[in-house]
Amino acid sequence: MSGPGGMSFEDNLKRAEEVLARFRGQTTAHWVNGARYAGTGGTFENFTPVDNSPLGRVTEGSAADVDAAAKAAAAAFPIWRRMPGAERRRLLHRMADLIEKRGTEIALVESMDTGQPIRFMQASALRGAENFRFFADQAPEARDGLALHQDQHLNYTLRTPIGPVGVITPWNVPFMLSTWKIAPALAAGCTVVHKPAEWSPLTAMLLAEIAKEAGIPNGVWNVVNGFGEVAGKTLTEHPAIRAVAFVGESITGSRIMAQGAPTLKRVHFELGGKNPVVVFGDADFDRALDATVFMIYSLNGERCTSGSRLLLQRSLVERFVPALQSRLQQLRVGHPLDPATEIGPLVHAEHLRKVNSYVELAQQEKATVTTGGTTAGDLPAGGNWFRPVLFSGASGTMRIAREEIFGPVLTVIPFDTEEEAIALANDTEYGLAAYVWTGDSGRGLRVANAIEAGMVWVNSENNRNLPTPFGGVKMSGIGRDGGDWSFDFYMETKNVCVAHGTHRVPVLGKK
Ligand code: NAD
Repeated sequence: MSGPGGMSFEDNLKRAEEVLARFRGQTTAHWVNGARYAGTGGTFENFTPVDNSPLGRVTEGSAADVDAAAKAAAAAFPIWRRMPGAERRRLLHRMADLIEKRGTEIALVESMDTGQPIRFMQASALRGAENFRFFADQAPEARDGLALHQDQHLNYTLRTPIGPVGVITPWNVPFMLSTWKIAPALAAGCTVVHKPAEWSPLTAMLLAEIAKEAGIPNGVWNVVNGFGEVAGKTLTEHPAIRAVAFVGESITGSRIMAQGAPTLKRVHFELGGKNPVVVFGDADFDRALDATVFMIYSLNGERCTSGSRLLLQRSLVERFVPALQSRLQQLRVGHPLDPATEIGPLVHAEHLRKVNSYVELAQQEKATVTTGGTTAGDLPAGGNWFRPVLFSGASGTMRIAREEIFGPVLTVIPFDTEEEAIALANDTEYGLAAYVWTGDSGRGLRVANAIEAGMVWVNSENNRNLPTPFGGVKMSGIGRDGGDWSFDFYMETKNVCVAHGTHRVPVLGKK
């Protein structure tokens, strides 16, 4: 079988060795002021989940390294802010061109660094280019505001970029997510310090290099590698950084909020989820089944919008659960560079242990567990392999139904009525995404209205549309990305009020 671009497994392995050669046995540096920067901290080893062999070392950002990057971003801010929007648009489109040109290289590095199947990473790299194009096109008008009339005054609003911003990203689909946060920041006129996740740092370096090649001025785009406790924390506390855009776990979000409080950071959080997929008895069975499988088992289940809780109307259980089980047995777990692979190894041995611990927990909680987990079978030794798992007959109170597992693990909970489905869907601390499957359009609207989530899809899997708002409620986040929402976060709104010269100015201290 060949994958996108006609590459076979063998081609991918060979090409991956070529593109990874620059990382193996080397140290990936930070990127500050348009150049590699060795930093003042130590280094740490980065591993591929395929066999847990090293993919090279990475600089471990110290507080001084973050300070250097934040100062570079602050120094570059006046130049970038003043640059006409049309010129920023041109540079960001150039960025997109170069991402497209290097799309295969990016996808191969990302697959080997994260374990994500190449079939998804090729598209994900191109989505990164699309993110740049979409936000680039809005750069020229991003400063436009509103005109608000009064009888004797005219108010108009202007938007100005907030300043240097910190962008902190997770390890699941790092390249695409980084572009999703950084593209609008740059289009708005902000400069950036990016702290990529320590488990998947490599494509951040490719992005920084591409920014340089595209002609983005030095200091506008900076990267500091390292751990959350030092590099991430220092970034969120740094006085030159005006806002923090963060994607990651809810608990980390609450830490960042506390860390940023003394400097009154503006924060934008895209956090965890335990997203319900509600399937009613009148739904299109085959489409609901395809989408349910796709939304939990694609991207290794390491996906914030994964449909990890299946709420199934009781009349469907007898047919739907066996259909799921048979799909599960056919899901192809394998090397992420094999175009046939549907599930690759999980990102890190520690994450594998976490995901697998829920299999034991499900047994303790007396849910029915289909075979799967770390029983490697015919898979090669040494990698973080995990066969997809299904927990059925669960109840909403079990931990397997409440905690974000972030792996290819689906928990099935039966329900009887629409009211019960809504109550179960909302019985969670999270509120990122929800999916509703029904043949009754009125019910689709009612349930979509009643579910507490930032995004609801009716009779669809997650279908991303860049102009629409993306984000969560409750413990799943603060703020929205997409469309103009991204610009609202990265920009300040200023009101200018101009008098017609006709109103009475209040007079004090005059006889
Ligand atoms: P994480 O919170 O552990 O780490 C994310 C980033 O935060 C990393 O770069 C890490 O180094 C940094 N970090 C950790 N502690 C920090 C601190 N105290 N201060 C500053 N930075 C710190 O998350 P993860 O395990 O890398 O990613 C998985 C999580 O991300 C899941 O919960 C998933 O749902 C979430 N996620 C959410 C979305 C979304 O759009 N809502 C998208 C993708 C992933």
